[in-house]
Amino acid sequence: MANNEDIFKKVISHAKEYGFVFPSSEIYDGLSAVYDYGQYGSELKKNIREYWWKAMVQFNENIVGIDAAIFMHPTVWKASGHVDAFNDPLIDNKDSKKRYRADVLVEDYIAKIEDKINKEVEKAAKRFGEAFDKEQFVSTNPRVVEYKAKMDAIGHRLYSSLEKNDLADVKSLIEELEIACPVSGSRNWTEVRQFNLMFATQMGSTAEGADTIFLRPETAQGIFVNFTNVMKTGRMKIPFGIAQTGKAFRNEIVARQFIFRMREFEQMEMQFFIKPGEEMNWYNHWKNERMKWHLSLGIPANKYRFHDHEKLAHYANAAADIEFEFPFGFKELEGIHSRTDFDLNAHQKFSGKKLQYFDPETNESYVPYVVETSIGLDRTFLAVLSHAYTEEKLEDGSERVVLKIPPILSPIKVAILPLVKKDGLPEKAREIFDRLKVDYMCQYDEKDAIGRRYRRQDAIGTPFCITLDYDTLNDNTVTIRERDSMLQQRIPIEKINEILNGKLKQFQT
Ligand code: ATP
Repeated sequence: MANNEDIFKKVISHAKEYGFVFPSSEIYDGLSAVYDYGQYGSELKKNIREYWWKAMVQFNENIVGIDAAIFMHPTVWKASGHVDAFNDPLIDNKDSKKRYRADVLVEDYIAKIEDKINKEVEKAAKRFGEAFDKEQFVSTNPRVVEYKAKMDAIGHRLYSSLEKNDLADVKSLIEELEIACPVSGSRNWTEVRQFNLMFATQMGSTAEGADTIFLRPETAQGIFVNFTNVMKTGRMKIPFGIAQTGKAFRNEIVARQFIFRMREFEQMEMQFFIKPGEEMNWYNHWKNERMKWHLSLGIPANKYRFHDHEKLAHYANAAADIEFEFPFGFKELEGIHSRTDFDLNAHQKFSGKKLQYFDPETNESYVPYVVETSIGLDRTFLAVLSHAYTEEKLEDGSERVVLKIPPILSPIKVAILPLVKKDGLPEKAREIFDRLKVDYMCQYDEKDAIGRRYRRQDAIGTPFCITLDYDTLNDNTVTIRERDSMLQQRIPIEKINEILNGKLKQFQT
């Protein structure tokens, strides 16, 4: 664990040192849980967004994209349930004055029991060697079975109390489990109370005439309120989807873990409108499709897992998360929810407008059901970055830090490096640079020894370096160096595009 924490710290400082992520308004000491993306970070973020957009909108004939405003009519949030129910249960420690999410305190406790199970499994795996059968061990070892039962019981009680809004019982649970404040070590807790996560602001210039409006806490509602607009103007037939990416804002009680939990973040969501009764098929379809998308990035499958929700949000009849193994453990990266007709029905009721689909086959109108996929762009960025961060010892004894970012997502695709700064090499290199920049984000670098320049490109995850030397001037060939293997190959200049295209396309779904 200490080791992973160490790596996480290194990822954070690498992200800052190399222009990926900066604390917001840093010269004023930053703003809690708000971050800015730097010159490479904004490229990586844009590439992830595009990779998602392509997979969802471009590759699916029946999915279209929109870009709704962040500000929405205040009644939207009444209808969606956010005004009444977008709350987190919070609890304060009276000694440290630190504030926590009560459910997270309990979930952390459950995670600790899970750690114990994992340790037992590891020990047993060592003991039994090849003959080890994990499933059998987990279901029969008395200690593990006991841990598992305890985890289930605690989880069940937490979620059923939250469901019933029985906050007193959540507090009792924290007391019974003897959960202490990680800062003060004391168990001197306040009552648990609900806290609404939406940011409010005023629209309009005069105090009397101003309306309280909210910064959207999710992008989904912009899609629901445009359902009819898109269906009619796009001549959409069910099943069809509407996708969008954009900022969302949540006044998170405990914002921590770098860009994992931010107060301003970006979501990539898709609402898929279907015939009622078909939701379980589509729910499973999108669970699979979304997992395939993650795996298409080439990150190993064991870094991902599904987590089915026990406690369902007020709008859902089935929900699962795709979790990723961040350096601080498996955590939610994406949610897939079967939202029924909750949202469209609610907007119908509050707006007085019909939000229905006319089925030409049955001559009937109905309010469609919705299966949504909702992924955090910043969390995906963190998943990619933390998995990419690699420290390597090289054969010559030196070390390098390399970001093994999937090439299709890398901020810079190719660096063009003249071996020396004279004898016509820079001019030739600029020629190549000017040609390649039309298709790829490129970087030209002529400063320092070639080894140092390679290291700089490794550190920002550039998959290919093109080096020009004196032979280039005679035979029009260059060296192409691949980031991960560090293998170098001599190729003719006119083949560069073809080779890059092949290597960069191979990762696309
Ligand atoms: P969590 O349980 O971690 O608070 P959530 O279940 O509230 O997340 P959703 O409302 O399902 O999250 O939002 C969909 C996605 O948006 C999440 O899977 C996550 O990737 C992203 N997301 C949600 N809240 C944040 C945040 N504060 N910072 C960054 N990303 C977020």
